[in-house]
Amino acid sequence: MMKIPFLDLKQVNAPYMDALKDAATAVVESGWYIRGSYCERFEKDFAAYCGYAYGVGVGNGLDALTLMLRASIELGRLKPGDEILVPANTYIATVLAVNAAGLVPVLVEPDEKTFNIDPNRLAAACTPKTRGILAVHLYGRLADMPAIWAFARARGLLVFEDAAQSHGAFLDRANLSSNAVAYSFYPTKNLGALGDAGMVVTDDVELANVVRMLGNYGSEQKYVNRYRGVNSRLDEIQAAFLLAKLPHLDSWNARRREIAARYCSEVKNPLIRLPEIPADPMEHVWHVFTLRMPDRKTRDALQKHLESRGIGTLIFYPIPPHRQEAYAAGPDGREFLLPAGRLDGKFPIAENLADTVLSVPVSQVLTDDEVTEIIGALNEFVC
Ligand SMILES: *Cc1c(COP(=O)(O)O)cnc(C)c1O
Repeated sequence: MMKIPFLDLKQVNAPYMDALKDAATAVVESGWYIRGSYCERFEKDFAAYCGYAYGVGVGNGLDALTLMLRASIELGRLKPGDEILVPANTYIATVLAVNAAGLVPVLVEPDEKTFNIDPNRLAAACTPKTRGILAVHLYGRLADMPAIWAFARARGLLVFEDAAQSHGAFLDRANLSSNAVAYSFYPTKNLGALGDAGMVVTDDVELANVVRMLGNYGSEQKYVNRYRGVNSRLDEIQAAFLLAKLPHLDSWNARRREIAARYCSEVKNPLIRLPEIPADPMEHVWHVFTLRMPDRKTRDALQKHLESRGIGTLIFYPIPPHRQEAYAAGPDGREFLLPAGRLDGKFPIAENLADTVLSVPVSQVLTDDEVTEIIGALNEFVC
């Protein structure tokens, strides 16, 4: 048992116990459990919170990613086999969704300062088959969207976002927007349900309608099936929990920023490379606080040292997608990630990150004393 666990979901939800129980009771008593008034209200509220016109609740984040891409195919904006640029260092869901939609993920190395897809490497990864970019806001920091939108506009590419780690990160985006943004409300996310949940937000009413149909057996009218859909819907009980939690998201993210700022100013250990606070701090919601060590040995030693002090840590992610067995070989394998022999199959930056990153606790439930203790343990580490 860790003295300071990496993340304690019971502690995260405990302050809202009454509101959550009320939400559950109201749904049970309503007699309507899937795609009802709570789902509708949460879709409206969350889309508005994100600055988009439409929200479509789905079963989880992976489905949100997959269905926004599939809907783009159904609408003729993409076609099977089109190439989509994705960061090489992401959670595997991003890459799986591209494959699941029948598209080809083309991996692009990250910018080491932001951990996000490097806009300067997009051009080299493009071919005539490139039709879109799926940016990921890893660790809660927004990717360089102005550069990505500018690049996409110049080349006529669609832009999608995997925002599963960045609820509440804001960018002054003027009149710019992506074609669709996918969210996960997995319990550990900055805004987490008490089970699985996800959403697609978009300004495109056609795309929203098709995502909604695809998540409901491809049907709009009962027993009339326009598409070969799936079953991926947002439960009323999860929507009611999320509605109860949404008003607190900004204050949780503010607390995360406060903790991250303390780490960045008070950790002074020459072995530890701290993440950068963006020029506009609102562009980061610190889903996790990820630092970097010189090599794998020192990273593993730091993890052991923190564990011996009762401090929980995690590695996001120890194996990059292209190194997973799932992508090791076969027709669904490596060549899908590395089309046309253009890339040599090596992603040294993504691979080095997997060997050297370590995430320490940063959730809003940490007390000032706990943060002080973590900083002390980090500063005491020697190799
Ligand atoms: C959590 C996560 C997902 C998947 O969300 P699920 O709800 O677990 O399906 C996708 N992408 C990223 C970056 C994530 O962190």
